[in-house]
Amino acid sequence: MKIIRTFIIAALLGVGFTSCSEDDLNPTSIFDSTTEPVRNEFDQWIWKNYTEPYNIELKYRFDDKESDMDYNVIPADYNKSIALAKLVKYLWMEVYEKLAGKEFLCTYCPKIFHFVGSPEYEKSGGSMVLGTAEGGLKITLFNVNALNVSSLDPEILNEWYFKTMHHEFSHILHQTKNYSTDFNDITAGKYYGAGWVNINDATARRDGFVTAYASSAVDEDFVETIANYIVKSDAEWQQILNEAVSVDEAGNPDYSGRDAILRKLEMVTQYLADSWGLDIQALHEEVQERETHIDELDLVTLN
Ligand SMILES: [Zn+2]
Repeated sequence: MKIIRTFIIAALLGVGFTSCSEDDLNPTSIFDSTTEPVRNEFDQWIWKNYTEPYNIELKYRFDDKESDMDYNVIPADYNKSIALAKLVKYLWMEVYEKLAGKEFLCTYCPKIFHFVGSPEYEKSGGSMVLGTAEGGLKITLFNVNALNVSSLDPEILNEWYFKTMHHEFSHILHQTKNYSTDFNDITAGKYYGAGWVNINDATARRDGFVTAYASSAVDEDFVETIANYIVKSDAEWQQILNEAVSVDEAGNPDYSGRDAILRKLEMVTQYLADSWGLDIQALHEEVQERETHIDELDLVTLN
């Protein structure tokens, strides 16, 4: 216990300590680090790599309080949590830090990342949940135990974790600074609401949405456009645009779906630049570049 307390104090007083805000030193911090029972090696790594620099807590232990009791979920595996924590730092946090600065990340990033081992299924047999964000405070990532460290596939990583993170983070941004209502007009009257579950991506794209989920509501559309553009490779994005073109029985192409998606991309690009000084093209390129190096990462050693 003495060692743990010493570590915490050393971290707080450490040379080069650049805190996100004065809140870090508030004794009533939500992290309540002094009552943490035992900090294992991974806990110490989290402190050094998430909490101390970014004011983010990473919860990987099972905690009923953090899970929605309407769902059945299982805990995240320890080693897979380590691997994902390192991937999140490299493919997500460091990207925003590099392009928007540490202060931006510290201010707007959710304060808690919560890892859950299984996907979350509604007990009623409804849809599967990829991720959730609650009031900008917490992002939950599911299916952590499906992470295959020996065969990392960017497409699967994006589908399960990183698209979700960009999606949820974009909600925080637009909830902080509204986007132009002109966005609502691009595909007005075409949203499916809860009926989106019966629509496949290809159909949604012909209607002018990047994914089926984007067709559920305007806010979802807005953040799905951002998240997909950032994580999709150029070839994958082109494929989305190709699928958005429909051809009638006489062989005449209809480009309205593709044009709507491109107009939405234009609007989210403008929004991120004007409201946040964020270059979505640079975000996209940085993520694509980093994805080519994930096999070189050490996802095991805590240092
Ligand atoms: Zn959403």
